[in-house]
Amino acid sequence: MEKIRLLSQNEVAKIAAGQVVERPVSIVKELIENSIDAGATRIDIYVEHGGKDLIRVVDNGCGMCPQDAQLAFAQHTTSKISILDDLNSLTSYGFRGEALASIAAVSHMQLITKESTVQTGTRIIVERSQLMNSETVACPDGTEIEISKLFDAVPARKKFLKTVETEFNQIQNLVHAYVLAHEQVHMRLFHDGKLIHNCPPVNTLEARLAQLWDIYSVQHMCMVQKDFASIGIGLNGLISDHAYGRYNSAHIYLFVNKRWIKNTALVRALIKGYANIHQPGKFPAALIFITTDPSLIDVNIHPRKEEVQFVHACALEKSLQALVQEQLEERVRTQLREFSPASGPFVCKQEDLYACTVKTDNLAPEQEPVFFTQKNIALSSEQSINARIIGQYHNTYIMLEQEDGIIFIDQHAAHERIIYQELANQFEHVPTMPLLFAQMMSITEYDIYLFRQHQTILACHGVIADIIGPDRLAITAISLYLKNTAITEVVRALLDDLHTSNGEQDVACVHHAIRARMACAAAVKAGDVLLPEKMREIVQQLERCQNKLTCPHGRPTTWLLQRTELEKKFKRDYIQKHESRL
Ligand code: ADP
Ligand code: MG
Repeated sequence: MEKIRLLSQNEVAKIAAGQVVERPVSIVKELIENSIDAGATRIDIYVEHGGKDLIRVVDNGCGMCPQDAQLAFAQHTTSKISILDDLNSLTSYGFRGEALASIAAVSHMQLITKESTVQTGTRIIVERSQLMNSETVACPDGTEIEISKLFDAVPARKKFLKTVETEFNQIQNLVHAYVLAHEQVHMRLFHDGKLIHNCPPVNTLEARLAQLWDIYSVQHMCMVQKDFASIGIGLNGLISDHAYGRYNSAHIYLFVNKRWIKNTALVRALIKGYANIHQPGKFPAALIFITTDPSLIDVNIHPRKEEVQFVHACALEKSLQALVQEQLEERVRTQLREFSPASGPFVCKQEDLYACTVKTDNLAPEQEPVFFTQKNIALSSEQSINARIIGQYHNTYIMLEQEDGIIFIDQHAAHERIIYQELANQFEHVPTMPLLFAQMMSITEYDIYLFRQHQTILACHGVIADIIGPDRLAITAISLYLKNTAITEVVRALLDDLHTSNGEQDVACVHHAIRARMACAAAVKAGDVLLPEKMREIVQQLERCQNKLTCPHGRPTTWLLQRTELEKKFKRDYIQKHESRL
C-alpha cells in the first residue's frame, strides 16, 4: 500500500520555518539583518510582551519596489546572491532568501516599504504565507515590518516559549550585539512602549559599549588589535582586564566580519588566555571582532547562521589565546610600573604552632554538585584523629600532623564550607549590617526582573536592596559575612548566578547558588596569611560541618598524605622489612 505522500506547500513552509524561526529573538535577528543589509543608518525595534505579541522593525534603508515587496515573501528569493559561489565574496548578512518566507509562514505580517526615488510606497499583508492585501500607500523612505500572531499556526512551538522576561532578555542581548557591531547605526529598542536603549552613532567601540554597559565594566576593558597574516585573519576588539571577572560567559561576544556568532572553542581559547589570572568559575567580558576574507569561512553551516566554520580554526584559537595573554601581561606590566612593590609577606613562626583535634569522615551523598571526588581519604566516619597544626603551606593549605600522616586543608574550600553551613543554619536570621550609605549599582532590566523574583530569598540571606530606577539598585544592608567584600561585586555575581540558574524550579537549587556564592566571597582566600587562632577556628568549625570533605562547589577541603606513602617514597618500607635496625 502506498504510504508516502507529498506535503502541501503550506506544511512545507511551516516545517522550513521551524529551522529559522525558533522564537521571537530569531525574528528580530532576521529583521535587523535585513535592515542593515538594506544600508539603514537608523533602526527602531519595537517589541511587545517579549516579542510574543508583536515585533516591529522600522528602518530608513533602501526600501523595495512593489514587485520586490511581493516577491520577498516567496521561498528562496533574495537580492543578495545569484549562485552559491557568491558566498566566497559575501558581504551581506542574508543570502538564503528564506527568512521572510519562514516568518510569514508562522505569523501575521505587515510590510510597508518605499524606495527614496519614488513618491509612493507599498503596503502588503501576508497571513500564514498567503498574500491577503497589497496596496499603494504614502509612507516614509525605508521599510517597516510588523509581525503578530506568532506561532498561532504552530501551537506546539508556542508551548516552548519562555517567560516574557526571558524572551525579552534574549532580544536585548541580540540587539546589544548588533549595536556593538555597527557603531554608525542609530538603534533604538522599545519594550511595551518603553524606550530601553537609545544608541545614536558614535566613533569608537568604547563609546558604543558605554551606551550599553555600566561604567565600572567599561573602565575595565582594554583594546586588542593584531593581524595574523599567515592565516588571513585580523583580530580586534575589547577584553576585560585581570581585575574584572563575571560569573558566566554572557558578556563574551564574538563576531566574524560583523556577524555575531557562537563558537565554544573560541570562547574556551579566550578564557585560556586568562589562565593563572582568573580563578575557575570566573569569566572575562570581551568583544572580539574577527575579520577575514569571506572565502576563508563557511557561513552556510547553521540554519540560523549562528555558527561559522573557519578554514584555519585551530590556528585562530591559538592566535586569540596568545593575543589575550600578551595584552593582559602588558596591562599588568604597566600597572606594576605605576605601583610601588608591596611589603614582604608575613611568615608563620614555629612557636605559633599548637595542638587541636580534627575528625574527618567519608563524603556523604548530598544534593549539591560534586565535581571532584576525594580519592585518598580512606578514613571511616567513626575514626577520630588527634592532629596538631604544624603550619600553613603556600599561604593556602593548613597542615596538620597525625599518627598516620599529614592532613592538608585547603583554607578557602574549608572556610567556604563552614560559611555555607552557617548560612543554611541561620536562614532567615542571617546577621545583617545596615550600610551607612546605600551602595548604588547599575544593572540591566533583566537583572531587575531576576532581583524582584528572588528579593525575598536574598533578604533571608541578609542581602537587602531596593530598586530605585529602571536600571538601578540601592543596596541598603548586607549580611555580616560580606562586610569585608566588594559588595556590589558580590551582588553582581549573585545576579549572574541567578541568571545562569534561571528557570530552575527547585528552590533548594536557588538557595544553594546564593549560599555558595556568598560563602565564596566571604571565605578566606588562597594566599591569605592566617594567624594560628584563625587556622584553629577553621579546623574546629570544619569538623562540625556536614559534608565537610568538599566545598559547596564540590572541591575537596581535605587531603591526607599518608605516612606509608612517605615511607614508600623514602624506601623506608624496604628498611622496615629488611633492615629493621635502621
Ligand atoms: P535574504 O536576506 O537572505 O536575502 P530574506 O527573506 O531575509 O532573505 O529577504 C528577502 C529579500 O527581501 C532580501 O534579499 C531583500 O532584497 C528584501 N528585503 C528584506 N528586508 C528588507 C529591508 N528591510 N529593506 C529592503 N529590502 C529588504
Ligand atoms: Mg535576510
